[in-house]
This record gives sequence, structure tokens and C-alpha cells, in this order.
Amino acid sequence: MAAIVESSHDAIIGKSLDGIITSWNRAAEAIYGYTAAEAIGNPISMIVPPERQHELPLLFDKVKRNERVQAFHTERITKTGERLSISLTLSPIHDPRGRIIGVSGIDRDITKQKKAEHELAEAQQRLSHYAEELEEQVADRTRVLKETVQSLEGVCYTIAHDLRAPLRTLQGFTRILLEDYTPALGEEGRLYAERIGAAATRMDVLIRDLLDYARLSHLELPLTSLDLGHQIQQVLLQLGPEIEAKQAEIVVAPLPRVIANETVLAQVLTNLLTNAIKFVAPDTRPHIEIRSETIDGKLRVFVRDNGIGIDSLHHERIFGLFQRLHKPEVYPGTGVGLAIVRKGVERMGGTVGLESTPGKGSCFYIDLRLASG
Ligand code: ADP
Repeated sequence: MAAIVESSHDAIIGKSLDGIITSWNRAAEAIYGYTAAEAIGNPISMIVPPERQHELPLLFDKVKRNERVQAFHTERITKTGERLSISLTLSPIHDPRGRIIGVSGIDRDITKQKKAEHELAEAQQRLSHYAEELEEQVADRTRVLKETVQSLEGVCYTIAHDLRAPLRTLQGFTRILLEDYTPALGEEGRLYAERIGAAATRMDVLIRDLLDYARLSHLELPLTSLDLGHQIQQVLLQLGPEIEAKQAEIVVAPLPRVIANETVLAQVLTNLLTNAIKFVAPDTRPHIEIRSETIDGKLRVFVRDNGIGIDSLHHERIFGLFQRLHKPEVYPGTGVGLAIVRKGVERMGGTVGLESTPGKGSCFYIDLRLASG
């Protein structure tokens, strides 16, 4: 027993009930700096810091009631005045008749552990501080970037708007040339004038699409509860001539109410349906199905066609501005439609996507918020 006490790494200190040190092992010498001869016979209070003196009677009282004190975290002072963090365990010493005659204490020096814990807590605090700073920086830069994009979109809007006036002049004078000056123009001249007129019209469509796109970026878009089925019928009515021209067959499943912006929803649906009617192989009668499914609390609306399909290589790219896979002579268009679809759906809090295989048709989908009730 004496050998165990002597070889322990923890200080093992015996005390009388009135707090006088009665035994002091080698680890106590090493930890506190007092030799056994210096410590024994002195009060234990000599290694207790002044502001911790009040703890002693409380701890001793507990032991006197035959209770153990387990891993009590406190501080002690060494001979050289160094402060140590100590985990203290106290238990009563009994005489052969079972009476409590003293207190045996095991003092574990946890100074290094405490220091490490403290440093860890500090490091964690610094880390969370850096994380906060970083987040602030990201938020700041995002704000600046958003402002820049917004002002650029504003400039784009103004330019596009102003471009339309000279275009009108161009279209107007070309028409006058074609109507009133045909003899002077001759066959070749008429052809050129027609090409000027067609180019001006194409540019007008392009600018109109761009304006629609730019408007999506900087206008407030109030969202309301809308009957999706009704909205689709309205769009189909508008697309009557195209549907008629291609003899398109369109099947619409029952659809619920959604939270959306009426104008934007109409733009989105118009673009998806126009594409579904347009991108079919020659002499193919377009067959289009519109249906919906609730996925994770959102409504996914599918527009499936029997068209030419799209290679998965281009599935992401085609949602970008001016991204087209065909020459305008083959399939007319400006490459703005799907960019409007994506931006519009995103501004209504949703996402877009598609599944498609070349030659096997495409299925575009948009996720919208379901209206309650
Ligand atoms: P646009 O219709 O004016 O060409 P969009 O932005 O609407 O522009 O579409 C971009 C491109 O994506 C189209 O040029 C076409 O190549 C492809 N695309 C879009 N919808 C379909 C579809 N339903 N089937 C096949 N290809 C499509």
C-alpha cells in the first residue's frame, strides 16, 4: 500500500480532521514543491489560495458526514507561488472501530489539461469569429455584385429600349421602299430591301425578348394563388395560330393551384409550349402532355413533347442567354426563351430541369410552390 502511494503520479495527502497534514507522498512533493518534512504538521490551508479557503470547511464537513468528494475542481498554490488546477478526491480515514479520524485526499494536477481546454475554447472562439467575418465579407461582396448586376441589367434595359426607335425607322422606310419604289428598285433591289426588313424584324424580336428577360431581373414580382389549369388554357388560347398551323395535339391533366406571378407564369408556359410545338422533326405532328406531381411539398409541372430531343451534353447550357442548338433557318428563335423560363421560375422560388434523349422527345419540368387549400 505504501509502495502504491509512493509511486502514484497524483499527490496523496493525509490530514487530521482539523486539517493538519499527516502524510505527504513523493508526488505531493513534486507537485507542490514542499518536502514531506516541510509539509507534515502544517495546516493543509498552506497550499490553498486565499479566495478558496472557504471551500475547506465545506469539503471537510462532507467527509465528516462519511461522504466522498469526487473530482472537485479547484486551485492550489505551490511553494514557489505557482497556481495549479487540481481535481480533488477526498475520502474519510476510519480507525479500527469505524470512527472517522482523518481525511485522505488525492490531488490530480490538471493544469495542462485545463490550459489545453482553455486554448481549445479560445481557438474555437477565434475560428467562429473568422467564420463570422468571412460570412460578412461574402454577404458584402454578394451585395456589391448583385448591385452591379442589377445596374448592368438596368443599362441593358435602357439600351434595348432605345434600340427599338431606330429599328422602327428602318422597318418603316423599308416598307415605303417596297410599297412605293418597286419599279426603281428592280428585282435585285427589292430582294435586298426585303432582307433588310426581315433582319430588322428579327432584331426587333430579339430586343423584345431581351427586354422581357431584363424586366424579370429588376421588377418586383408579386406572387398570388393562381389556378394553373386556367393559366395554361389562357396560354393555349394565345398560341392558337401556332397550334393550328402545326396541327398540334395537346393533352392537359387536371392541375392544382400554385403560388406564382401571373405575367411571369404566362411567359414561362408560353416559352415551354412554343418550343414543344416548334422543335419537332419535319412533318411530325406535335403531341404535348402537361401534367403535375407533388414532390417534397412542391409541385413539379411536366411539359413532355415528341420532338427532336436534346443531347444531355446541352441540358444545362440551353438555359443560358442566347444558347441555341440550331441555325435560325432551320428552327427560328433568339435563344432567350429558356433563359426567361429559368429566371422566371427562380424568381417565383422554384427550379427548372429536363429529361431528354435525341430523337425521343423532351420533358421539361418546373417546380412551383403549391397554394394551400
Ligand atoms: P429559342 O427557342 O429561341 O431557340 P430557347 O432558349 O427557348 O431559344 O431554347 C434554346 C435551345 O434549346 C433551342 O434553340 C433548342 O435548340 C433547344 N430546345 C428548347 N426547347 C426544346 C425542345 N422542346 N425540344 C428540343 N430542343 C429544344
